[in-house]
Amino acid sequence: MASKLELLEKEEKKNPENTELKDIPGLGPKSVELLTLAGINNPSELMNATLNDLEIAGLTRTMGKKLREGVISLFPEEYPDFIEEQSLEDIEGVGPTTAKSLREKGMNFHLLETTPVKELESRFGITQNSAVKYQNAIAESKGGYFQSAFEIMEKRKISDTFTFGAESLDNLFFIPELGKSGIREGESYEFFGSFRSGKSQLCHQLCVTVQLPKELGGIGKKAIYIDTEGTFSPTRIIQMATRLKNETGWDKPLDDILGDIMYARAKNSDMQQGIALKLLEILGNQKNDFGLVIVDSVTAHFRAEYSGRGTLADRQQTLNHHLSILHRIADTYNLSIVVTNQVQANPAQFFGDPTTAVGGNIMAHWATTRCYIRKSKGEKRVIKIFDSPVLGENETVFEITEHGIITSE
Ligand code: ADP
Ligand code: MG
Repeated sequence: MASKLELLEKEEKKNPENTELKDIPGLGPKSVELLTLAGINNPSELMNATLNDLEIAGLTRTMGKKLREGVISLFPEEYPDFIEEQSLEDIEGVGPTTAKSLREKGMNFHLLETTPVKELESRFGITQNSAVKYQNAIAESKGGYFQSAFEIMEKRKISDTFTFGAESLDNLFFIPELGKSGIREGESYEFFGSFRSGKSQLCHQLCVTVQLPKELGGIGKKAIYIDTEGTFSPTRIIQMATRLKNETGWDKPLDDILGDIMYARAKNSDMQQGIALKLLEILGNQKNDFGLVIVDSVTAHFRAEYSGRGTLADRQQTLNHHLSILHRIADTYNLSIVVTNQVQANPAQFFGDPTTAVGGNIMAHWATTRCYIRKSKGEKRVIKIFDSPVLGENETVFEITEHGIITSE
């Protein structure tokens, strides 16, 4: 017979994974059945689902929220920082019927906040009047359009970064105001350089390092890879991940690392733009799982499809729109965007390196941080910060090896 102490211990070991759904306050047998059918079997899975998932399972969003509050009341220590996702219903003036019909069109809270009014009308059928009203309501709920510089500084201090998985690169990307190194959440990066300079290799490695847990320099999130040139290689991911696992003791299985990279092949610039727009929509239905979006390369299709002087203005306009969507993805979901870009010979430049990045002015002003990669001896590469509001114009050397990108000896 179990002693009282043993029983107590058993009691104590209850956690969101080993607790039954029916033990959640307010959860009746009908809801248990609906959730189980949808593959949600315990409180932990209920917390990890999105309100959308719960709605699809047959529970209202209000019910979903209430049940989650119930789970938190059972396990307050497990979810100290849980923030319920914001729904369209949370916006003043948006009723359940409007919310539902907007959601069916692909709209979500974050998108409604960041999409230009004109586009809300043309793509989602929201009248300009309503759009302005909703956006004002969102701004009001966040304390208005203005914040003090102090508030901005405090907010920026809590933004996260993730490692390159190579010390020399991390040192180059040291952000003084954060006291941290690497790629920063919510910011945009452009890596430009010639063919084989290592741009795609860098993108591959970041898809792995973003997944590292915080204690190993990552942010524990998934990556999205939009490949325009067909050069993505899962084998390279495995090689890079294996090195990082061996060096750090990271225990995430290789299959899961691969599984947490969503890949899309864009075969022309229209597809590329379509994928970006789709992302803007679908990321709102994910539970803040993604930390990085790669577009490798962002300019190649535009450059190939719009050749000849006459079409240059068209090209720049389309590219500009695509780039603005990428910015919106970063802003809306606070994730990092990394794009690569090619260089072209610039006969007008007589001094230094006679190459400039493709994409002209529009590209030149897009990224928060622009970096130039050039080949050096053998597998060595030099990377230089070209333009950044916070990083100095320094450079460093890295090496491309079978095991990925490492600090150069
Ligand atoms: P790009 O800038 O054109 O995207 P890549 O990122 O594809 O260039 O880099 C290509 C270079 O990466 C190759 O020239 C080679 O030096 C290196 N590389 C690629 N795969 C491997 C590997 N398995 N082992 C070692 N080096 C590799
Ligand atoms: Mg490449």
